[in-house]
Amino acid sequence: MMNSFPKALQIDNNTSWQQLLSHTINDPEQLIKLLELPHDYLQGAQTGDAEFSLKVPTPYLNKIKKGDINDPLLRQILPIEAEAQQIPGYVTDPLAEMSANHHEGLIHKYKGRVLIILTGACAINCRYCFRRHFPYQENKLGPKQWQQVLKYLNDDESISEVIFSGGDPLATSDNRLAQMITDLEKIPHLTRLRIHTRLPIVLPQRITPEFTSILENSRFDTVMVLHANHPNEIDNETGRITSQLKSANVTVLNQSVLLKGVNDCVETLKTLSEKLFHAGILPYYLFTLDPVQGAAHFNVDDKQAIQLFGELQTLLPGYLLPKLAREIPERPSKTLLHP
Ligand code: SF4
Repeated sequence: MMNSFPKALQIDNNTSWQQLLSHTINDPEQLIKLLELPHDYLQGAQTGDAEFSLKVPTPYLNKIKKGDINDPLLRQILPIEAEAQQIPGYVTDPLAEMSANHHEGLIHKYKGRVLIILTGACAINCRYCFRRHFPYQENKLGPKQWQQVLKYLNDDESISEVIFSGGDPLATSDNRLAQMITDLEKIPHLTRLRIHTRLPIVLPQRITPEFTSILENSRFDTVMVLHANHPNEIDNETGRITSQLKSANVTVLNQSVLLKGVNDCVETLKTLSEKLFHAGILPYYLFTLDPVQGAAHFNVDDKQAIQLFGELQTLLPGYLLPKLAREIPERPSKTLLHP
């Protein structure tokens, strides 16, 4: 498969995920040229980029329609001027994660499960990301911090599930992931491993036989929660990697964020659920936007979200409906927005 962009990485069957990860598009001018967008958008893109840098991998770029400023995938990655505006209520830590950041690299919000920030790196910078201001530098998980995390997990027998998060946990190497899983497996009360990742959607080459064999050989019940927001993000590759993961006994789910101008339309949400299911993935959550500074232009208000969801409910069987929810800081679980 060759892409048609002159200056983006040319992809063929031998292109590794590591090459793709290290050759992302980071320059607003290059993005605008490659996608043949009006030059007028450059200044706004540079302003937004200064707030949270542009980053997009070639496989995702190839799914964006050239010349279409309203492309729903483009809206998720193109920095814009509005990101620099301060809007009341939109803050740098919208989920108050700092109060649950008990150790470097560890967040413990809910009973029974703990989240580990493996890395601050992602393959893509999503403009609405609730961790766009997260202090990754203060959460580096080196060998010393990892031992502290293991001790924390060892000492609390109520914890049964570990969630690999980030950044994107799959931006890290197979060797590191394998070693971490081996260390965690030595803690007898841990039974489940959950991996939250957008990489299989934006850079499907990441799912290799070597990676899936790590999960297949683990004693953990493993769940992978993907992150796709729009049906155009799902293609045949998604189905291929899902079958690989399922052969390794991994349960594959998807969570989305409801985003103005991207998927705030009942037909789009319906098609997303149907395409996910066709690819072997169950819709899990549809989250409303977390009020993070710089992303207010993506907000869909609760009234509209509930109305959209009500319409969706009439069009899909129950097993294709994600749960419409939001995370409210300090609450003991996610809050459902529909009956
Ligand atoms: S991949 Fe996830 S963590 Fe990374 S920028 Fe996107 S939403 Fe945020």
